[in-house]
Amino acid sequence: MIIFKKKEDLQKYLSTDEQKQQKIGFVPTMGALHAGHLSLIERARRETDVVLCSIFVNPTQFNQAEDLEKYPVQVEKDIEYLIEAGADILFLPGVEEIYPQGMKNLETYAFGYLEEIGEGKHRPGHFQGVGQVLARLLKIVDPDKMYMGQKDYQQILITRKLIELLHSRTEIVAVPIKREKDGLAMSSRNARLSQKGRKKAPAIYRSLKKIEAERATHSFPECAEEVISSLEKEGIEVEYLLLADAGTLLPETDFEAHPQVVLIAAWLDGVRLIDNVLL
Ligand code: AMP
Repeated sequence: MIIFKKKEDLQKYLSTDEQKQQKIGFVPTMGALHAGHLSLIERARRETDVVLCSIFVNPTQFNQAEDLEKYPVQVEKDIEYLIEAGADILFLPGVEEIYPQGMKNLETYAFGYLEEIGEGKHRPGHFQGVGQVLARLLKIVDPDKMYMGQKDYQQILITRKLIELLHSRTEIVAVPIKREKDGLAMSSRNARLSQKGRKKAPAIYRSLKKIEAERATHSFPECAEEVISSLEKEGIEVEYLLLADAGTLLPETDFEAHPQVVLIAAWLDGVRLIDNVLL
């Protein structure tokens, strides 16, 4: 695996005649890699010639300073993991490399209602930060395909909108959520849970499965009330529980016959966890 820290070096390498003929599969990450990230890399390996990963903890997408400070960093371990996973290239830039003019007065993107619901509503500025970093990474890497996890469902829709706004040629590939054996969606943030919290956390996914099972006999508001109160009894505080059209993410009040998605964000041990299920 070749590691590049400077964008000029990476671009120079990618612009050689030999590299230009290869299809690039890009997997952007914030590091602290786990099997969820691996599933993105595996998919990219199957579908493209060169798998390029990036590790960059993007400050502009953190709406809480504490969340950024506590974000796990384990670069050495990640490098070993990526070599084992068969990644070809790692782009490991510093903050000045991505934001050479600083992080003030950055461009903004017209994501519309996607920024006013779910993650957008509860993490003000988060998706602008996602847009700012992905626009830069897309410009540097110009991948054929970019692999993203369905765990961050709303982020995939935001990225599709970004691709449209940037007139980018990159195709977005959405990869299913990788879960622990007990159902908890894998996340770099899980490492911050206490032992007790880690045992409680699968209740989040169980709640989503319960909603899925009960949708034939109950309304969504009934399901939501039950799930929120039972999670709260476990000490899990629900920030939002949203039912939406799976294609547009426009919020819906009750179950319908077309594909829908239920999205949840919840707090446990001071850690914010998200998950979703497609109906
Ligand atoms: P992150 O490092 O958390 O920014 O995630 C980098 C990419 O990995 C994003 O596209 C995530 O959606 C994806 N990802 C994170 N966790 C999982 C998971 N459990 N299953 C599948 N993809 C995931």
